[in-house]
Amino acid sequence: MHTKLLYIETFGCQMNVNDSERIASMLSGMGYAPASSIDGADMVLLNTCSVRGGAEEKVYKRLTGYRAHKKKFPALIIGVGGCVAQQEGEELLTKFPWVDLVFGTHNLHLLPDMVRAAEHGERRCETSFIDNEQRLDLFPPVTGGTRLSRFVTVMQGCDNFCSYCIVPSVRGREISRRSDDVLTEVSQLAESGVREVVLLGQNVNSYGLKTPGEIQFPELLRRVAEIDGIRRIRFTTSHPKDMSVELIACFGSIAKLCGQIHLPAQAGSNAVLSVMGRGYTRESYLEKIASLKAVRPDIAVTGDMIVGFPGETDSDFEQTLSLMEEVRYADLFSFVYSPRPGTQAAAMNEELDREQKLLRLDRLQNLQRQISREFHESMVGSIQSVMVEGEGKRAGQISGRADNGKIVNFIGDVSLIGSFADVRITQAYQNSLLGHLIQRGTESP
Ligand code: SF4
Repeated sequence: MHTKLLYIETFGCQMNVNDSERIASMLSGMGYAPASSIDGADMVLLNTCSVRGGAEEKVYKRLTGYRAHKKKFPALIIGVGGCVAQQEGEELLTKFPWVDLVFGTHNLHLLPDMVRAAEHGERRCETSFIDNEQRLDLFPPVTGGTRLSRFVTVMQGCDNFCSYCIVPSVRGREISRRSDDVLTEVSQLAESGVREVVLLGQNVNSYGLKTPGEIQFPELLRRVAEIDGIRRIRFTTSHPKDMSVELIACFGSIAKLCGQIHLPAQAGSNAVLSVMGRGYTRESYLEKIASLKAVRPDIAVTGDMIVGFPGETDSDFEQTLSLMEEVRYADLFSFVYSPRPGTQAAAMNEELDREQKLLRLDRLQNLQRQISREFHESMVGSIQSVMVEGEGKRAGQISGRADNGKIVNFIGDVSLIGSFADVRITQAYQNSLLGHLIQRGTESP
């Protein structure tokens, strides 16, 4: 079987990154090897995201750009997957006659057949929703690879229907994967040398809540922590309303659970949180942050913020800034509000124009840059256990992440790559830390 080249371009969240890994390992069985660009590729797949405005335009622009490649190399297979594919479906085949296949968020398992059909000139679109447990059984596993850290999907979809969010309509209803399947996958990964797992889902905190007889997320974390070989556990994404007392306690009782949590607030004012349909208040959010810091004082909290949501007043926005001051996020992803098709918020009146929104975003990001910098500076002098994942930015440097997720670069031998090292932090930068190697780390937490 001659090797064919597959170029996958991935947009958006870690769920998409994980799906692209699944696609790559699934199609490697058909003789497709990864390519780093479209040049010379036999197939190009776009794995798309539709969370923000402009998502469709970005995909259309890419596909328009691929037309010339198809003209030069008619056998090139062009495919679109992910959330824009789920949203647009057949439309994409109509609008872009040079596209061969469109696959939805529940149809990755159909890709080998679709590719075989495309190799014989047949164009196909598969975007049917599978709104039951069977969906996750169809999920192709990710095999091979030497990485220390791997994503493990524990659930898919979301039932929260926040008023601005398109995810429930493109990823479907919330379904938890059977815990036995999750634990089996983690054990196999541990045997293959993986030392860190990142448990993935749109809202992992509600894992098992809607599945009769299934365990819930704190118990899943405990069982993952019992698996030999796994040194670190992370998870994303969490919804504050489902952040239970039991889950918070895990940060004090499970040694392998990393001191990092992604807990998107989205806004700081109760008025905006209510219109967003988030299901919690500023006060209850801050209570959860305080409880987290009580059980794990050095925890790194990261979050997401939307500015310029319909109805957001100057005072609402000031409350977002003051919430950031109180939480002291280690890092924050922030965006201007953009209406998404089919969402409740898309029907709401917007008072702010783009320029006003961007001014607010600028103020918010300036504040966060200062807070992130101070977070890094607070780590100077501390000794961090670093999982060494590769070579650093400068000659002689190696690099990895501390328990709280922060990037640490330090002088060390490449033989340390793939292991843990104790490193004293000597300098803080905006997005990373510099350290000094103390010793090779111990094997168990
Ligand atoms: S919790 Fe809300 S914002 Fe997050 S994926 Fe679900 S609907 Fe979207």
